[in-house]
Amino acid sequence: MNRKHPFTLGRRQFMMGSAALAAGLSGLSGLPGTAGAAAPMLGTKQPGWYRFKIGGFEATIVSDGRLNLGSAEAQFPGAQPTVIKEILDEEFLPVAPMMLEQNALVLNTGDKLVLFDTGMGTAKTFGPESGRLLASLKAAGIDPATIDAVILTHAHLDHCWGIMADDGSRNFPNAQIYMSQADFDFWTDEAKLSAGGFLPSFVEGARRNLLPNRDRMIFVADGKEVIKGVSAIATPGHTVGHTSYLIESEGASYLNVGDVVHHYALLFEHPEWEFAFDTDPALAARTRKALFDRASADRLTMIGYHFPFPGIGHIRPSGTAFSYVPKAIDLS
Ligand SMILES: [Zn+2]
Repeated sequence: MNRKHPFTLGRRQFMMGSAALAAGLSGLSGLPGTAGAAAPMLGTKQPGWYRFKIGGFEATIVSDGRLNLGSAEAQFPGAQPTVIKEILDEEFLPVAPMMLEQNALVLNTGDKLVLFDTGMGTAKTFGPESGRLLASLKAAGIDPATIDAVILTHAHLDHCWGIMADDGSRNFPNAQIYMSQADFDFWTDEAKLSAGGFLPSFVEGARRNLLPNRDRMIFVADGKEVIKGVSAIATPGHTVGHTSYLIESEGASYLNVGDVVHHYALLFEHPEWEFAFDTDPALAARTRKALFDRASADRLTMIGYHFPFPGIGHIRPSGTAFSYVPKAIDLS
């Protein structure tokens, strides 16, 4: 027996009813969305920015878009593939591609407007999605010409290749550049242009972005204040002069970790793992563990350049290692 509920329309009845309704509505004027055609899918991506407070400072995360790092197995060559897969499965993530965000922090301290790291520029080394930093800044209402300082965590392509435009002009024409001298010396070293592996292309790009700014560069030092409210913490290993930054205002303490940690799940659970692009992988792992211990003990809020957007969260002890707790987004 095919009994219908008295108030349920059959498919045919429903379609006839819809057609009649559409015909009726199309006779009305002034109502939006009544043309009868479905709205086209837009396919465009939203610019990525997120604004929040760090004490008395105004902070904005601006996205340069995602990087495609290929297979996680290739990026953590010392780790067992079965363990990588197990952790990523738990996070509902594939082993490949391993996608990493690029969360650049803009900090308005009240007297300085500061950008931490600058994205990939127009290079598409890690896929087509990067290169959005300037669009994200614009959407966030920030004029690149008003940025007083660009502070670099290190001189890798996804952090310093956005300093210069392709035509040789400066994307942040009024900014001083702050970075460690160790990274400047290493990544602009002409002798490495004839080295093997990925070094020559990384060095070539660093030279293109850093050398024209040598006269507006200020080197940072471990434990020293960079600008008011921002101090440098030497965190070497990923690169020789990699630097994290502690941001303090009105009792709030945020730690901009840069690339001390790339993956919020894999490296929190296994801080001892070595990452393919580390200059000194063993030192990078020791540095990561020490910074995790400090951030966890001091309950610092982390900003991770490569964490899921917008990259703000806490770290807590978990088993023999740590876990990442993303901070809830506040749209107030
Ligand atoms: Zn990076």
